[in-house]
Amino acid sequence: MQAQRLWQEALGRLKSRVSDQSFEIWLKPLTSVRCEQATLVVEVPHAFFQEWIQDHFGEDLLHSLRQVSEEIQQIRFEVNENLEVAAPEQPLLPLPPPKTKPPLLHPALNPRYTFDHFVVGRSNQFAHAACKAVAEQRPRRYNPLFIYGGVGLGKTHLLNAVGHRILERKPKSRIVCLQAEGFLNELINSLRSDRMAEFRQKYRQKCDVLLMDDIEILAGKERTQEEFFYTFNGLYESGKTIVITSDRFPKDMPELEERLRSRFESGIIVDIQAPDLETKLAILRKKAEEEQIHLSPEVALFIAESVTSNVRKLEGSLIRLGAFASLSGSDITVDLAKNILKNILDEEKKVFTPDLVMKIVAAHFQVKVSDLKSARRNRSFAYPRQLAMYLIRELMNLSFPEIGRTFGGKDHATVIHACKKLRSLLQEDVETQRHLQAIKSALGIQA
Ligand code: ADP
Ligand code: MG
Repeated sequence: MQAQRLWQEALGRLKSRVSDQSFEIWLKPLTSVRCEQATLVVEVPHAFFQEWIQDHFGEDLLHSLRQVSEEIQQIRFEVNENLEVAAPEQPLLPLPPPKTKPPLLHPALNPRYTFDHFVVGRSNQFAHAACKAVAEQRPRRYNPLFIYGGVGLGKTHLLNAVGHRILERKPKSRIVCLQAEGFLNELINSLRSDRMAEFRQKYRQKCDVLLMDDIEILAGKERTQEEFFYTFNGLYESGKTIVITSDRFPKDMPELEERLRSRFESGIIVDIQAPDLETKLAILRKKAEEEQIHLSPEVALFIAESVTSNVRKLEGSLIRLGAFASLSGSDITVDLAKNILKNILDEEKKVFTPDLVMKIVAAHFQVKVSDLKSARRNRSFAYPRQLAMYLIRELMNLSFPEIGRTFGGKDHATVIHACKKLRSLLQEDVETQRHLQAIKSALGIQA
């Protein structure tokens, strides 16, 4: 009998005896098989697959095979790292039942992105508070609300949360929530098919709340900006609520039309910073609870310290670990985490560390890192030290006390003073601007 058919039939028999999830993840993806006399050879993408399959259904698998064909005496696994394995179609972990009332369904809102699922920390408390205020009281002076912050820090989550909360309070609200790119595409299509009237109506007359994500995409796109400007004005003047997110501050988007920029600045602008360690830990705890993953404090700390800035990555790491642990039945230890998260963490390493910044700053000024950490006050050390503190704050968003500790246990006030001083130097002192420029380019940061 043909190897492939033999294998599929054997899997068919085995299927009823293993959980759907295990079957989807471990067995179904294996499709490359061949017979070598009395041995069935099965290719697996990773040695770990082989171990897992052998441990969990080794005998059963052979038994099923022999039911189909008695000629088969054994199974051999062969690791083929180039083997393409389809990702499981279902999420790896069942979602726990929602504890709170499920949000009203709105086709454009992600049901998981509610305030209840959002962890508030120092890095996002203002953005969170502003979003809540807008959703609950819709104060005029908070209109528009402009949220900006780096990738994966929770902008889209908060934007959706506003939508959910407004719907909870006023179920009839007409909420339009979309990516700016969607707006752009729709506009292009409407222009092409001569349906601008409809387009305008949708955004201006049939909308009480406009939630527009990733507005930075409109930079440089004049026609779209113009249309957006009119949409914005129409809504604004009739007192409709507008919330916008962007990965940049309005002032840092030079390709944005001035009138649009000043509209954005007329409301309230809040930023989301990279989460500090406590917030990362809290997010991990919350997600672990939601996903029913048992996470020890050591492992949580390990993940939180390794994943520096991006909440999406933090979440991804946890889910991956949880999936692994639940499938393999092992406990999540720090060693396991190191192993499983290797790829993610390798990527993170490219991110700046205080050590790296200090090394580069020290090299630039031809001093030693130990001089930066020392208490020596003469200018040839103090100036590089202050610059390094400033840069670390800017690049890594560590807290002032954390930065102080990296510099040999300096007081947080010293760091605050350094950052303040550098900021004012950068305003007027060309020399300082040049130093900073050179150091940034040594760090691989584009001007
Ligand atoms: P952005 O839009 O800023 O790129 P997202 O809103 O898509 O980021 O967030 C990325 C992921 O991280 C989402 O799954 C989101 O739920 C989660 N997330 C971000 N911040 C928080 C937070 N403070 N609490 C809980 N989850 C968060
Ligand atoms: Mg987003």
